[in-house]
Amino acid sequence: MSRKVPFLDLRITDERERNDLLAAVETVFQHGRLVMGPEVEQLEKKVAEFCRRRFAVGVNSGTDALFLALKALRYGRGDEIITTSLSWIATANAIALTGATPVFADIRDDLNIDPASIARLITSRTRAILPVHYTGKICEMPEIMRLARQHNLSVIEDAAQAFGARLDDNAAGSFGQIACFSMNPMKVFAACGEAGMVVTDEPDLYERLQALRYNGTVNREVCIESCLNGRIDTLQAAILLRRLDRVEAVIARRWEIASWYDSLLEGIVQTPHPSPRQEDVYYTYTIQADRRDELKAYLESCGVETKIQHPILMPQQPAYEKGVRGEFANAQRLVKRILCIPAHEKLRREDIEYVANCIHAFYQDQK
Ligand SMILES: *Cc1c(COP(=O)(O)O)cnc(C)c1O
Repeated sequence: MSRKVPFLDLRITDERERNDLLAAVETVFQHGRLVMGPEVEQLEKKVAEFCRRRFAVGVNSGTDALFLALKALRYGRGDEIITTSLSWIATANAIALTGATPVFADIRDDLNIDPASIARLITSRTRAILPVHYTGKICEMPEIMRLARQHNLSVIEDAAQAFGARLDDNAAGSFGQIACFSMNPMKVFAACGEAGMVVTDEPDLYERLQALRYNGTVNREVCIESCLNGRIDTLQAAILLRRLDRVEAVIARRWEIASWYDSLLEGIVQTPHPSPRQEDVYYTYTIQADRRDELKAYLESCGVETKIQHPILMPQQPAYEKGVRGEFANAQRLVKRILCIPAHEKLRREDIEYVANCIHAFYQDQK
């Protein structure tokens, strides 16, 4: 009995949600402030509150959020910023585009940056640590913050995948000097297009971020520093405002799905091993599997769509591999084993059981 289990389903099928979002769009059509309309500030206030930060600045994408955060902190040529080896390439690109050098640390078995590796990579040129809360699970932040204090470094969180996640009851985005979110349609808290957000507690950074997101201008005319246009659309802000009310329910549903997988897949593949300190939002449910590529092909033949996020480590990308500095032995091992299986909130219990049964069948058939 075969079925199709898509990795994602971005259609808006829930009638109530659809009407809600259409009403939000209609409001923007009515007031006509398509750029920097009132919804932008409303959203910024709510997101800041949600993350327990003083300020939030809406931007055009998670990539912009990272780039503008690093610009706001004035990093550039000669500075080294330590980040992880396993992330979406936007993380390294944002560092490199400021002129600074990304240095790539290894990861632990939970796929997040290894604080011990960070410690080994710190030099006199190191200015900041940029941890990524990968798959929606928060990094070992107490240890990372301790390292940063000890070496007088800033911490910028790439929380693109982790909106709503918690560690020891602290929200993603509440640890670093600045934190960055993506609200692109694949993310757990998603717009209907590109969007991102930067949060901080510092008024001077808040001011700089506001200038930098609009060509480095103050009062829209006086340019204090060259930059590009990275403002969030009013329409996306309006949609996100409505979706913010639902985000806890979406996360709860993802938890439920993850817990089903946890028990159905135990002993068959490595599951994301949740710790009691973690409230993971499961941006992806990433398993670690023997014969990963064969498993992926087999699942494909069963109608189960999977993804490898991400198949090429950042330090091994053609854009970065030459003269790269870092250490990534464990990442190289794990990147051959990771597989993201469908875990979005629209899936039903039968879908999850079907996917788990296919995985069981693969390892049984091919013993
Ligand atoms: C999605 C993502 C980004 C980039 O966000 P966009 O909104 O797509 O530009 C950056 N870092 C990580 C870890 C991401 O997952």
